[in-house]
Amino acid sequence: MSESSASALLCTQCGGELHPDEGQLFVTCPFCSSTVYLDKSRVVFHWSLAPTLSSEQAAAALRRWMSGSQTVKDLDKKARITSQAFSYFPLWYFKWRDNKGEKTALEPAAATSVTELRTLNLPAGDLQRYDPAIDAQAEAPTVPLQAARDWLSERVPESEVRESALVHIPVYQFKYDYNNQTYTAVVEGATGKVFANLYPSKNEAPYLLAGGITALVYLCLALTPVAGSAFGENGFSVALAAALILGLVAAPFLIAFAAWVASKI
Ligand SMILES: [Zn+2]
Repeated sequence: MSESSASALLCTQCGGELHPDEGQLFVTCPFCSSTVYLDKSRVVFHWSLAPTLSSEQAAAALRRWMSGSQTVKDLDKKARITSQAFSYFPLWYFKWRDNKGEKTALEPAAATSVTELRTLNLPAGDLQRYDPAIDAQAEAPTVPLQAARDWLSERVPESEVRESALVHIPVYQFKYDYNNQTYTAVVEGATGKVFANLYPSKNEAPYLLAGGITALVYLCLALTPVAGSAFGENGFSVALAAALILGLVAAPFLIAFAAWVASKI
């Protein structure tokens, strides 16, 4: 594989010699027309993914995500989208094999606040040769291939990469304001999937409080017969009956309380 022979610049597809100009990173092989990317003295395939969503459809995908269950209630109505920009974002794409079959992984190839992009399920069948016509919209990779491989081997120590590639994926980056804070979300332009590291999420504290109150009420009820047994056999029976009745009476109130909490956030 050409990856191991660092001295020669050979096409990953046909083995033809490549003679890039100084500083040239994106090269089309003169022999087989493969598009490759040069990272230091490594040559890797260069792919891109075509967008299938218009900017309106991307905005609609973001609104759907905002109205979903992950984000704070009514975020789709309360958030104000302040900017929207389309670009092709670079990712390093790694393939290796283990005893369960072929594995793949992605790492961002440029700085981003949305590192979640690495969880993208890349539709490998839809990858096409990188077309230099999209250069103007394509963000240049700034993360060296080796650095990305180091990240990968930290995350997945058993990964022995056999193939690396550069992939430019279409993304719509949105900025929106909510509660005087600015957030970033990325809508992947081929699948409409939304990626965000930070977003106004459902606050879990009220749920924990409601759950805690319920647990406390039933703990007290469970201890009542124990306390009652201090007053002899009868004390235990009376306290047990009282606890059972109180438990049944309390249940609808606690359920109503939990439902009320859920409706508020
Ligand atoms: Zn070639």
